[in-house]
Amino acid sequence: MLLNSYKITRTLPCLADPEKIRVIAEVSGEIYEAFPYLNAVLKGCIYNHPALTLTIKKEGKLFTLHAHHITLAKIEDEKEAEEILIWLKDLINETYEKQDQIEPNYSMAAELKALDIFRLLPGTNCKKCGEPTCLAFAVKLVGREIEIGKCISLFSDEFKGKRNILLDLLHAAGYEVPGAYLESKEV
Ligand code: SF4
Repeated sequence: MLLNSYKITRTLPCLADPEKIRVIAEVSGEIYEAFPYLNAVLKGCIYNHPALTLTIKKEGKLFTLHAHHITLAKIEDEKEAEEILIWLKDLINETYEKQDQIEPNYSMAAELKALDIFRLLPGTNCKKCGEPTCLAFAVKLVGREIEIGKCISLFSDEFKGKRNILLDLLHAAGYEVPGAYLESKEV
């Protein structure tokens, strides 16, 4: 068994939704060996092989697996966090046990689409980035023709929640994000 146990070590306000919480759980051992197999069998996850992170999107929530801990965002309460962690533990162990039957997938950001980015942009079409619409900006961003820092509106206090989720998503997918954001990360 790759993941024997986990322990919730921190519960913080969710950056995207003040009514919800963000939960960090330390895991026993190192779980990163399962990531390329999970990346192969799950739809919509984002694998960053050099950084050893795997982000799973499920029912509007984001679960980011690191080598030694798991971060859950947009969680109702600790009871829901426990249920998700049990689900993740079973998923990680069952997938890792079947690794002989799975072709590992090391590709990054295969599932990150312009619409994933668009939904987290301000959506005001203010043109401050030089693009005619937020959707046009998202298309260029996913094609790595423009950087997220060009969306000036996103960096106002009004869009702090969306900004944190989008920067997490982009960072997990191996995109450039502002250095100040990385320095401010709590874990
Ligand atoms: S600056 Fe941001 S909010 Fe304004 S149009 Fe560009 S992507 Fe949309």
